[in-house]
Amino acid sequence: MSVKQDLNLLMEMLAALPDPVFVLTESGRYVALIGGHDARYYHDGSHLVDFTLHDVMPKEKADWFLHEIRRAIETEGLHTVEYALGSKDLKGSEDISGPAEELWFEGRIQPISSLVKGERAVVWVARNITERHQMQAELRRLSEQDELTGIYNRRKLMEELEEKFAEFKRYHHATSLMIFDLDHFKSINDRFGHIAGDKVLRIVTRLCAAQLREQDLFCRYGGEEFAVLLPNTSLKDAGRLAERLRRCIGEHDLQGLLGENACVTLSAGVSTIRVSDSDIEQLISRSDNALYKAKEKGRNRVVIEE
Ligand code: GH3
Ligand code: MG
Ligand code: MG
Repeated sequence: MSVKQDLNLLMEMLAALPDPVFVLTESGRYVALIGGHDARYYHDGSHLVDFTLHDVMPKEKADWFLHEIRRAIETEGLHTVEYALGSKDLKGSEDISGPAEELWFEGRIQPISSLVKGERAVVWVARNITERHQMQAELRRLSEQDELTGIYNRRKLMEELEEKFAEFKRYHHATSLMIFDLDHFKSINDRFGHIAGDKVLRIVTRLCAAQLREQDLFCRYGGEEFAVLLPNTSLKDAGRLAERLRRCIGEHDLQGLLGENACVTLSAGVSTIRVSDSDIEQLISRSDNALYKAKEKGRNRVVIEE
């Protein structure tokens, strides 16, 4: 092949690169863009060339891009990042055909060895990973969710407890835990059947969730047992909330679902993290003990473990 043919092939190859490849300088200037021409996956970004990140993006996003460019340059090697970007984030992209929703990208950033326009620079390959990202988010959601009630499961509670415990050790914000268990639930199943029992579990979940704040973590602890992790909540306030849930569930009329004289009550144990606690097991075991006492004392009550 002649030099001209070689060059033509090289140009064809570059133009056909499936993912967009940007050249960006250390000060955040777009110097060149090749590839990424399939509008199903990417917006045409050719209008970005000669502008800076701060010209075309909100400051916070532009600062982030610039930071990652500098990290790649300082690491002197391949640097990989993941980020979200939609056409609404890029000035001038609103009217360009391409995916409408926010996209997720994997950015592979490699420093260029010579200066570009007198500056250090990188090659930034942006690969659309939206589908993979959505699938990962869905898997995460499923791994944290209780199938029957749709609230969090025990695994998620344990993770959050660990996190909130570490925060407590740093900031000493009151953090409390309520564990509650439905009373004589076996007899609900025995009298009305397991499917009706399942419905009761879903109703209890909905009623309790409606009483909780956004920051509270509500989970099905197992069977007919639930837990509520209450950040920024003193023992006294947690006790009040438990009492409110107890009344709300006990007073709810299940007649429509189960027939006459049908109601369900709960027993709850509440405790709070202590400075002397060395792990979350101590908190869980205090709430559990309190719940046990509530059952012993006759059920349909709240016990607070001071
Ligand atoms: P207590 O007041 O001491 O808690 O009595 P209880 O009958 O609620 O306690 P026990 O632990 O003996 O029974 C729990 C019952 O909860 C038995 C079990 O069949 C029922 N249960 C657990 N998980 C589910 C579920 O997912 N669906 C239904 N329908 N029932 C469940
Ligand atoms: Mg029970
Ligand atoms: Mg139980």
